[in-house]
Amino acid sequence: MLTSTTPSEWARSLVSGAYDLHVHVAPDVMPRRVTDVQFARRCWDAGLAGFVLKSHYVPTAERAAVVNEALGGEVGVLGGLALNASIGGMNPLAATREVLKLAARHQLVVATGHLAAPEIRAVADAALEAGVRHVIITHPDFPQQDLPLDDQLALARMGAFLERCFATPFTGNCGWAGMLAGIKATGPGQTIIATDLGQPGNPPVEGGLALMADALRAAGFTDGEITTMIVDNSRLLAGADPLPPDGGAVRPAGGAGLKPVVTVEREGT
Ligand SMILES: [Zn+2]
Repeated sequence: MLTSTTPSEWARSLVSGAYDLHVHVAPDVMPRRVTDVQFARRCWDAGLAGFVLKSHYVPTAERAAVVNEALGGEVGVLGGLALNASIGGMNPLAATREVLKLAARHQLVVATGHLAAPEIRAVADAALEAGVRHVIITHPDFPQQDLPLDDQLALARMGAFLERCFATPFTGNCGWAGMLAGIKATGPGQTIIATDLGQPGNPPVEGGLALMADALRAAGFTDGEITTMIVDNSRLLAGADPLPPDGGAVRPAGGAGLKPVVTVEREGT
């Protein structure tokens, strides 16, 4: 499926203005390819609008604020909060409902992280019921999640976004064909493309979205559909304004107004 780890010029240009909502950068417990500041600079060079700082162990909103200030807010860095044992954990489902109510009140994005398939349904249903506007079903193709297509379709119909990550098929955790078939089934409108990159042995994080654009194009998706999945939906979930139709400025309005993404976790890796 993927013949090169260097994105095409077309793909580099298409991802302009996109946010990568799932990356792993240093400092972290595990070795990472780049630091948050280095990656923010590379986003700027690559034309990306910003990213979510994901850590499985610590809240990153403060780090995001520091990076935003250090870089003058030219790249929009969003914090994240993964509800793992290191920050107090999460007891299903009463405590989760309380968190979801707070997320709804503050209009935060809720992601399902490394929950198992039945938990994904339970948490996503409860989130939508609680009034959370934007729910991300984190890499449903990953073996730990392996969310049945019927559930994916039901969640997409309810307005949840299915997150398809470059790293999942690239590292052999699922097949390209299976993931692409899932995207076709649930539709570009409810698909968000992220990379889940940052591991030292994988390609540079900043090229991941463009590599996905190439893979999607090779699979027959139109330019418009790819733009929806990579650029428009990531901007919507990041809380950024839509891209201007004239192709003007694609840069974020700084980190101000960008809100953390809450991930209901289960000891992710
Ligand atoms: Zn990840």
